[in-house]
Amino acid sequence: MLTRRIVAAISFCLWALALGGCQTTTSGGAVGAERRQLMLVSSQELDQMAAQGYNKLKSDAAAKGTLNTDGAMLQRVRAVAARLEPQTRVFRSDAPAWKWEVNVINSNELNAFCMPGGKIMFYSGLIRQLALSDDEIAIVMGHEIAHALREHSREQVSQAIAAQTAIGLGAALLGLGQGSADIAGMGYQALIATRFSRTDENEADRIGLELTARAGYDPRAGVSMWQKMIKASSGGRAPGFLSSHPTESSRVQQIEALLPTVMPLYAAARRGG
Ligand SMILES: [Zn+2]
Repeated sequence: MLTRRIVAAISFCLWALALGGCQTTTSGGAVGAERRQLMLVSSQELDQMAAQGYNKLKSDAAAKGTLNTDGAMLQRVRAVAARLEPQTRVFRSDAPAWKWEVNVINSNELNAFCMPGGKIMFYSGLIRQLALSDDEIAIVMGHEIAHALREHSREQVSQAIAAQTAIGLGAALLGLGQGSADIAGMGYQALIATRFSRTDENEADRIGLELTARAGYDPRAGVSMWQKMIKASSGGRAPGFLSSHPTESSRVQQIEALLPTVMPLYAAARRGG
């Protein structure tokens, strides 16, 4: 049974490869983040699903009176986004023209994310409780934008479909019936409660750091931001938006190792005004 499933999974992946299911979403940039990705759903499908989820989140918050209640904070977050967005062209030429949106929910949650297609949400607790500077906000936002540029959610949905189909193929080989997979349901779930892999987090850290530097925000804020995170986590308040896979200290090490690559980009951005 298990062997047949594995055979089915492998043949499915070969079939997906033959159809061109594997591709890469971004160019490498200075930090070099290139990897082939299995994609079985279109960006359009995912962006549409994300926009629906984002609108629901906004209308729910508005009904509770927690959407964009702090005008000064909203202005700060949108100003950071406005400088980061044009820099996305380094990694993919279509991204600056996305329908970007930035909002803030008033909540104690330490959370922030960027859904597929550029729908950004910050929770006020993250900024207030960690007393984030603009540079540190840029680090968090750059990281979240990187997930969207690399289409990590789309990749996760694709992997879920591949696994589901492989199981379906295995069942078919064994002559068992297989109910239809609720692909839309899986997709929605992946967008709302995405648990990114260690590889995804690593890519988002690298790309996010370069976006931050190119936008003229100090990439060294990556170190101070993570130190604040470590402190918050040790107090039993693990931030919701971060996968726990890569340890915070290993992230700090990676950022420190990349500083010589991104500091010249920061200096150039500062010179350019
Ligand atoms: Zn992440």
